[in-house]
Amino acid sequence: MIREVSEGLIRVSIGSLALLDLVSLNMKYKPTTLYMLQYSPYGCLARCSFCSQSFSSRVSKKYLSRITWYSVKLSSIVEKLIDKKKLFKRICFQTILKKYFIQETVGIMEYLREQNIELPVSIATTPVSKYYLEKLYDLGVDYLGVGLDTATPILFIKHGKPYTWSVYMEFIENALEIFGEKHVYVHLIVGLGEDSLELYSLMEKLINIGCNIALFPYTSIDKRSPLVDLRYYRSTQIIRYFLQKNYKLEEIVEDGIVKRELIEEIISNLDKYYEIFITTGCPHCNRPYYTENPKGPFYNIYGNDHFEEYKRRLIEELKQLSKFNR
Ligand code: SF4
Repeated sequence: MIREVSEGLIRVSIGSLALLDLVSLNMKYKPTTLYMLQYSPYGCLARCSFCSQSFSSRVSKKYLSRITWYSVKLSSIVEKLIDKKKLFKRICFQTILKKYFIQETVGIMEYLREQNIELPVSIATTPVSKYYLEKLYDLGVDYLGVGLDTATPILFIKHGKPYTWSVYMEFIENALEIFGEKHVYVHLIVGLGEDSLELYSLMEKLINIGCNIALFPYTSIDKRSPLVDLRYYRSTQIIRYFLQKNYKLEEIVEDGIVKRELIEEIISNLDKYYEIFITTGCPHCNRPYYTENPKGPFYNIYGNDHFEEYKRRLIEELKQLSKFNR
C-alpha cells in the first residue's frame, strides 16, 4: 500500500505549493499548515450543494472553496517537504468519498511517517469506523476535522450531505472518545440558510460535549468572496469565542443578537479579544484566502500581523455591528 500511495496523486492547495517552491505566487499572508486534499479525477462521490469537489458540481475538480488545488505525486511533495518542513507547523489532509478512501488515507499517513515527516497531522473526514479512527490516532493524527457544515438536520438533507445527521453525531462522539476533548473540530459553514439561533444553539451543544468549532463563511467559487453578511459572521465568531470560554448562550445573546455591551467591551479592548477574529481551527490552521478575497473584507484573520494591519477596519466593522444590535 505504501509504495502504491507514494506514486499516487494528491491535491495540494496553491498556497502550500508556493511555500514548497512548486508554483510561483505572491502571497502577503502565508499558510502555516500544509493543506492536502485526497485526489480523484471525479471529485467526491457525495453531493453537497456548496462544495465544488461534489460529484454533482460542474466546477473543475481542481477547486475547493475559492482556491486552486493542483494534483501532484505524493512522493514529490514529500521530497520537497523533507527540506522545507520548518515552513509548516501542521499538515491537514482532507478526505473525499471514493472507494477505499480511508484505507488510502491510512496508507498516506504511514508513508509520511515512514519518510520521517513528523509534523502534527489533522485529518478532516466523513464518518468512518472507530477502527480507522484508532489507526489514524496511532499514526500520530492529533486532531480530527468533521465537516458537519450545516446547522440543522433539515439543512443537512437539503444540502445533500452524505449519511445522516445521527450518523455524524455518533461519529463525533466516537472521535471525542479517541482523540479527546477539544481535539475534534466540527466545521460549520455560516450562511447555508440557517436561522442564526439554530447555529448558535448547535455550537453550544457541540462545545458542551467537548468539541471545538471551526467556522467558515459560505463562499461560492463564482463570486470568489464570502456570500454571508459580515455582521452575522462577526456575531458568530464572538459567540463561539465566549461559548468556548464556558459562557452560556443566554449570557452572550439577547433577543437573538449579541449583547451590545459585549460588543462595546470588545471594541474597547480589541487587543485582549483579537483571538475571536483569527481563523478558527486546529492549532496553526490559518487558511489564507481560502474563503476571502485578497482585497477583503477578511471574515477570518490569518495571524497577528494580519490582525495589526486589519485592526482599524475591524473596529469599523464592530461599530457597525454595535449600531445594528441597538
Ligand atoms: S480546522 Fe483546519 S487543520 Fe483542522 S481539520 Fe479543519 S481545515 Fe484541517
